[in-house]
Amino acid sequence: MSCEEIKTIIPAYIKHTATEAEILKVEEHLCVCNECREYLGQTMDRPGITEKKEESLPEIPATKNSHLLEYIMIATGLAILLFFLLLLLKH
Ligand SMILES: [Zn+2]
Repeated sequence: MSCEEIKTIIPAYIKHTATEAEILKVEEHLCVCNECREYLGQTMDRPGITEKKEESLPEIPATKNSHLLEYIMIATGLAILLFFLLLLLKH
């Protein structure tokens, strides 16, 4: 198996969509080929190809917090608006 062939399988290998035969070929080749090991490392570092669950998890509470802040601001705004409306109606 040539390096070029291995490099075409590597994306599937990372996404766990490669067949068992392909996985074996890649792993056998990676044992003897530094270049493809580096290629695998670079491909795995590229965002979008692999789902980095460790990185996406802290983002969820952050967005939830910002949404919560928005709701609080909107609710406060509405409360102030209602307060002024009531004042106007009393006059
Ligand atoms: Zn190689």
